[in-house]
Amino acid sequence: MITKKNSNQDIIIETCYSSVINKVIHCLMLQYYLFLIYLMRFLVAMNILSMNNLLNLDPDSSTSILTCFNMTRKVGSQNSKLTREIIKDFFIQMPLKWNIEEISFQEAGHNFTNLVVTLPYYNDYIQDDIFGFKTCSLEYNKKDIVFAVHYDTIYKIPGFVGAIDSAASMAILLQMAYAFSHSQLYRPSLRPYNLKMIFFDGEEAFDSWSSTDSLYGSRHMAQKMDLNNIELFVLLDLIGAKDTETIQYKFYNYDRQTENFYQKLLDIDKALFNEATSLLFEDKYVGDDIFIDDDHVPFKNKGVLCLHLLPLPFPSFWHTQQDNFDSLDIKKIRRVSQVLFNFTEELFQ
Ligand SMILES: [Zn+2]
Repeated sequence: MITKKNSNQDIIIETCYSSVINKVIHCLMLQYYLFLIYLMRFLVAMNILSMNNLLNLDPDSSTSILTCFNMTRKVGSQNSKLTREIIKDFFIQMPLKWNIEEISFQEAGHNFTNLVVTLPYYNDYIQDDIFGFKTCSLEYNKKDIVFAVHYDTIYKIPGFVGAIDSAASMAILLQMAYAFSHSQLYRPSLRPYNLKMIFFDGEEAFDSWSSTDSLYGSRHMAQKMDLNNIELFVLLDLIGAKDTETIQYKFYNYDRQTENFYQKLLDIDKALFNEATSLLFEDKYVGDDIFIDDDHVPFKNKGVLCLHLLPLPFPSFWHTQQDNFDSLDIKKIRRVSQVLFNFTEELFQ
C-alpha cells in the first residue's frame, strides 16, 4: 500500500519498495505452489507405479491394458471404435501431454481410422493448464521416432480376436508409453525427438492378401505423413506366442539398413537375460531369404529406416480362431516391453 508523503520522491521510493516486496511474496508463493505440484506429481507417480502390473492376463483385472483388447476389432465396427476410445483414454491420463489425432479415410467402400499419438520433444504438463499457461508452445521441429502396430482383426474369421495379431503388441506399446512418460516427468532438458505411436486400421485383407487388399492404414499414412521427419520406424507384429517344446519364437534382423538399431535391442536383451527367461533376439540376418509384407513396407519403399519386430516362425495358429488370449505368454510380453522401453530410453538420452 502507498501512504501519502510530503514529497513525490518519497512516494516513488515507497512505490518501488512496495513493488519489490510484492514481487518477492509473489515469487515465494509461486515457488510454494510449484513445490506442491511437484510433490503431488511425485505422489501420483508413486501411487500409479505401485499398482498391479498393467500387463497381465487376468480377465477380471480392471487395470489390464491387455485383456481390454480381448474382442474382435473389425474395420468400421463398434469394437473398432471402442478400441480407439480405450487407447485415447489411456493416453489422456498420462502425466505428460500426448497429442492425439484420428485420421479417417475411405477405400474400397470401407471406412478406416488410424490413431496417432505423439509425445513432443518438450514437456507440456497437463496440470499447468490450471495456471493458464503452458511450459512451451513451440511448433514441432524435431524428428520422430515412430512405433507402430495394427489394431484391426481379420474380417472373415468369426470371433477372431487376434491375440498375437496384434493385441499383445498394442499392450506392449501402451505399457512402454506409460513407463516412458513417467521416466520423462522430471527431465530437465528437451528430448532429442518426438515419440510417435501409430495404431493402424485395416492391415488385414478383406478377401485375400494383395497390394490393394491389405495395409490400408499404413499405405494411407505413408502418403500423408512427412516421411523426411521420421528418424526410425519400428513395427511390432505377431508378438507374444507361447513357446512350445520344439519351437522358440525369436526376433531376427531383416534389414541391413537398421542393423545398428537391431544390435542395440540384442544387447539390451542380453543384459536383461536371466535363467527364468530365454533370449528373444537372434543375432542373425535373414533379410536375403525372407521378405514379410507388413505395415512397414509402404514406409520402407519410400526410403524410411524401418525396424520390423516380428518373431519367427509364424505360429501354427496364426490367422485361425486359436489366436486367442490362451496362446499368450505374459512373461515374454513383459520382457519385450522392457527391452523396448530400455531401447527408447537409450535413444532419448
Ligand atoms: Zn494378421
